[in-house]
Amino acid sequence: MRFATKAIHAGLEPEELTGSVIIPIYTTSTHVENPKGYLYSRLGNPTRDALERNLAALENAEYGLTFSSGMAAIDAVIKLLKPGDNVIVSDNVYGGTRKLFDKVLTRLGYEFTYIDGTKLMDVEVAVKKNTKLIWMETPTSPVLKIIDLEGIARIAKENDLISVVDNTFATPYLQNPLDMGIDLVVHSTSKYLGGHSDVIGGAVLTSNREHYENLKLVQTAAGAVLSPFDCYLVLRGIKTLALRMEKHCANATKIAQHFDGHKNVTKVIYPGLEHHPQHELAEKQMRDFGGMVTFELANETSAQNLINNVKLFAAATSLGGVESLMDYPVALSQKDVPEDERRKMGVTACTVRLSVGVEDVEDLIEDLEQALRG
Ligand code: PLP
Repeated sequence: MRFATKAIHAGLEPEELTGSVIIPIYTTSTHVENPKGYLYSRLGNPTRDALERNLAALENAEYGLTFSSGMAAIDAVIKLLKPGDNVIVSDNVYGGTRKLFDKVLTRLGYEFTYIDGTKLMDVEVAVKKNTKLIWMETPTSPVLKIIDLEGIARIAKENDLISVVDNTFATPYLQNPLDMGIDLVVHSTSKYLGGHSDVIGGAVLTSNREHYENLKLVQTAAGAVLSPFDCYLVLRGIKTLALRMEKHCANATKIAQHFDGHKNVTKVIYPGLEHHPQHELAEKQMRDFGGMVTFELANETSAQNLINNVKLFAAATSLGGVESLMDYPVALSQKDVPEDERRKMGVTACTVRLSVGVEDVEDLIEDLEQALRG
């Protein structure tokens, strides 16, 4: 099956008893004895199982697990390790991931080493005796760096490490890290997969049976499961993922091209632009360049004016919904990252991140033009 067909059909059968084409929202907490062996909803739920099968198919994985948020999924993956273990992390990961790593898990004895994930040599040099896992995100937020996934997978294999990629920005429509040798894929399903800014959820996909069983234990024992209703929302969103991603990518490309060289925008960052430093790598490992575009403005006032003046773009964090959003990383998505660290990553008070929605692109361009003039 090809991608759009899988998104609509994989793991989903009409319900046996009534013929319902769409999987029901099984809101029960518990079950009497039944042929499928369901016991208690934290341990297993038919709506959740359907979503997990579907997500696994989209990432070409054998197994899928969903969680109550992207952060709960990330937390579950680190619980594959034990205190004292070291994790190599790309310095550009989502601010919330850094908050979990630095403010919660470090306190519990886990160790995190941040490096520039675009430099494979830096990743190799960072490997220590107690390193157990490499954590990457690509494209990164908000400066949209591209990490060489085959290179990361090779380093992980050579050093017997678990490789993990947060594939939230790309989605399985644009890139399948497991096909490039990565062990685990993580998603915040709150973004493109849900697609309508109306649900919080997370997922981990893998073809490694041992990792799956350990993660399933964390999922059911710690209990950060996704509710049946939220599973339904994500399943409903996924049905149009291919259509939405095609439009997100087309709109983002047009916006990036339109504002590249614009007199009021100092720099446009988009992996689809030829001057993007990893444009060729993006072409090689992604099927298109995604729906995220980042602007550098001349100064902080210009950045804030842009955010205050937009009318169609909502000045809000998050991404991946049908509506366009504008994030101010220093105040929102990267707020918890110390300023010197942010600077090293290329994020300043002049940086504005756009999650380009699926509206008519001419309206989005007009909105940005008037906001930049204003
Ligand atoms: N990963 C990435 C790349 C994100 O952007 C986010 C949230 O913005 C998360 C993980 C966390 O997901 P959630 O908000 O669903 O917990």
